[in-house]
Amino acid sequence: MRTIAPQRPPKRPGIQQGKVYLVGAGPGDPDLLTLRAVRLLEKADVVVYDNLVSEEVLAFAPADAQRIYAGKRRNEHTMRQEQINSVLVRLAREGKQVVRLKGGDPFIFGRGGEEMIELASRGIAFEVVPGITAASGVASYAGIPLTHRDHAQTCLFVTGHLKNGSADLDWTTLARPHQTIVIYMGLNALPDICKQLMAHGAPTSRPIALVQNGTLGSQKILTGTLADLPARAAESGFVSPSLIIVGDVVRLQPSLSWFQPESTAALDQA
Ligand code: SAH
Repeated sequence: MRTIAPQRPPKRPGIQQGKVYLVGAGPGDPDLLTLRAVRLLEKADVVVYDNLVSEEVLAFAPADAQRIYAGKRRNEHTMRQEQINSVLVRLAREGKQVVRLKGGDPFIFGRGGEEMIELASRGIAFEVVPGITAASGVASYAGIPLTHRDHAQTCLFVTGHLKNGSADLDWTTLARPHQTIVIYMGLNALPDICKQLMAHGAPTSRPIALVQNGTLGSQKILTGTLADLPARAAESGFVSPSLIIVGDVVRLQPSLSWFQPESTAALDQA
């Protein structure tokens, strides 16, 4: 285990050390930002932001705040993690108030931990501001309660961005009944995920939902079963960011769906 030995900030005459705020930006809808996130954005000198952070969220920062895109699309890392870490350290040492903005919650598949470890080991002051993670935000706007006393007593968050195929997920656990599994970054592996769940004992009829751009006006949902969803998703052309939700709670979706994305609102008015 790597131990962290916090160091004293280096003394530099005349320069007051800055601070890095690791802030969760929520799943998309800017109304889902926390008050703390907005307050920190409003006084930021620099915002270092990821791919999933929207223009509307960035707009809370002062017009003259520096904006640095740290990227991170699948297989296309605009800045390597080490570069991001060293930019954060440099900016703080220059005395800046840095908002490091990440989609959802920084500690859920957001590499927030890695950045904090780096800052801690270099003696840089930091704070973490939690955000609404995609599982909570997207499920709420899709009308899928993640737990329900009749259907799911456990809820698991897993990453579907699999290294070397599918070997490193615990499929036996994931295939169990009476639980909800939420899969982040799983769109490309969707056929494999469904195949593995069925191979490990999940019924072919187990409900599954795919939600693209959850909480945004462009939200798109497809529900089906482990057996039929992959082919239907391919036909419907789903793209990232998309979240996968598996479990009996998905059956409740048609009756609980309350959020009207732009496309359906337009249809209703027609
Ligand atoms: N830290 C983030 C997750 C980063 S991983 C959080 O807590 O939400 C990125 C993955 O999150 C995407 O591939 C997708 O699976 C999911 N995701 C994030 N925002 C989403 C959205 N608005 N709609 C659907 N999925 C989303």
